[in-house]
Amino acid sequence: MPRTGVLNTAQPVAGLTHASTELLQNPLTRLQAVVTLCSTYLDDVDQRELLNRVGLAGYTTADGLPDEDPDGPGEEGIGPERTTGPTPRRESSSSRLMRNAAIANQVKDLYSNACQVCKTCLQYKRRPYSEAAHIRGLGSPHDGPDELPNLLCLCPNHHVLFDGLEIFIDVDGYVKKTHGGDSLGRLHRHMSHQIDDEHLRYHRTLCELNRLTGK
Ligand SMILES: [Zn+2]
Repeated sequence: MPRTGVLNTAQPVAGLTHASTELLQNPLTRLQAVVTLCSTYLDDVDQRELLNRVGLAGYTTADGLPDEDPDGPGEEGIGPERTTGPTPRRESSSSRLMRNAAIANQVKDLYSNACQVCKTCLQYKRRPYSEAAHIRGLGSPHDGPDELPNLLCLCPNHHVLFDGLEIFIDVDGYVKKTHGGDSLGRLHRHMSHQIDDEHLRYHRTLCELNRLTGK
């Protein structure tokens, strides 16, 4: 480790080369770079805290972080001591991500509301209930597209586990646990549902980062 005096004398140039900057425009490459940095050079630090400090906390979940609402009161404004009375309402910001309900319904219809992991079809209020899960999240920093090749039809349990990076789809189409690697069986895929393998790979890499930073 050079002393500050040496750096002052040498005036080293730091930063990314133009070629690296261009490569890092690709979201998957960018994520892989984060994984490589964490696993190769930063083994002895609290990586979650580090990601948080450098503004990359969004990589710790699959659905990313909600947009900041500068006008909103924030969660802390409500106060944890409030236990009675109606829940305070919060104006939603116009910059919130809008999901396309028609595309979400399309993936649910394709599977008749049966979860692609466990085939469960819940009944809720006398109607079938399932959830459309984005493989590459819509929120920052993932910025995934809101389209059918980026969606899965899941039950609430598997949606939570998928977004929480506890399960992923491996290269052979099997659903695996991030920690331990147990298989939950093959992901059910409708023949007309073209899932984008790049998005699955992106989600898998997020799970790898979760495994690295969660140890
Ligand atoms: Zn399920």
